[in-house]
Formats: sequence, C-alpha cells, structure tokens
Amino acid sequence: MDFSQIESVLGLASTALGATGKAVSTVEAVKKLLKGDKKPDDNNEAANLLNTLATELTAVNMMNVQLSEALRELSRELKRQDDFEKEKARYSLFETGERDMVFKLKEDVAHGQPIHFVCPVCLNRDKLFSYITGEDDYKICQTDKAHFFKFRDTPIRQPGRARTDWSPHDF
Ligand SMILES: [Zn+2]
Repeated sequence: MDFSQIESVLGLASTALGATGKAVSTVEAVKKLLKGDKKPDDNNEAANLLNTLATELTAVNMMNVQLSEALRELSRELKRQDDFEKEKARYSLFETGERDMVFKLKEDVAHGQPIHFVCPVCLNRDKLFSYITGEDDYKICQTDKAHFFKFRDTPIRQPGRARTDWSPHDF
C-alpha cells in the first residue's frame, strides 16, 4: 500500500476542514454584526463579509470536489491491492529441480485452470502475473525474456552420440 496517497488525502481533508472552519467563523461574524447595535458602516462591513463568505464557500466547494476525487482514487487503489493479494494467495513459492524460485498455482484453488508457473520478478516488483513457459530446461517469462528459470539440467549431447540412437552394440 502506498501510504503517501493516504497522507495526501488526509492533507486534503484537513485543508478542507480548515477552509470550512474559516467559512463558519465568517458566518458567525456576520451574525454578530446583524445582532449588534447598528452603526453607520455596518451594512458595508456585512456586505464585505458576505463577499468573503462566498469566496470561502467556493474554495470549500472546490476542495470537496478534489477530496472526493482523491477518496475515490484511493478506494480504487485499495480494491486493486485487495484483488492482487487475493490472486497472489492462489500461488505458492516453488523451488525448481535446479533450485530456482518461482511461483506455482496451487491445485486446490486452480478452479479448472491448468497448473502453471508465474515469474517471481514480475510478481514481486510489478505486481504482474506473467506466465513462464517453455518445455526445455528453462522456462522464460512472457513479459521479459531476461527473466528465465532453470527447471532441469539435461546433459549436452555429444555429437554423433545422441542418447536416443546410441547403443553399446553400434560398432
Ligand atoms: Zn518476469
């Protein structure tokens, strides 16, 4: 979770609250003015205060729009995070025959999907489920070919002595 995002929403909220507080005290000042003994330039002062109040309310309004947008974005981000954690929980760390670490879909939560492996680099760094595929000794990440993982170590065949067609009777 990106906590700086939450911090900036809280910052917006407290700025909006501060602006609301300012508008409330302007309203109080107008009320006080209307209740008190009328002085010659009271009307002028009241007009100025109402003007200030209008400006303050516009600012509050704008801040509320910003704030609700930020809250919506934050809620989307939390949902994304939650979806990611749920999906990640379907995989477990798997050690290949050659001691490489990858993630493998758990059989009990496969829901009919073929059991497959995903790239740990992409998953941990980019929160991306990228399959690693290939039937040779290595499986390669579909997103970045530099991410490859050794599953087996088939001995290199000697020229003219391919294991499939070599037999001790061939002389
Ligand atoms: Zn990858």
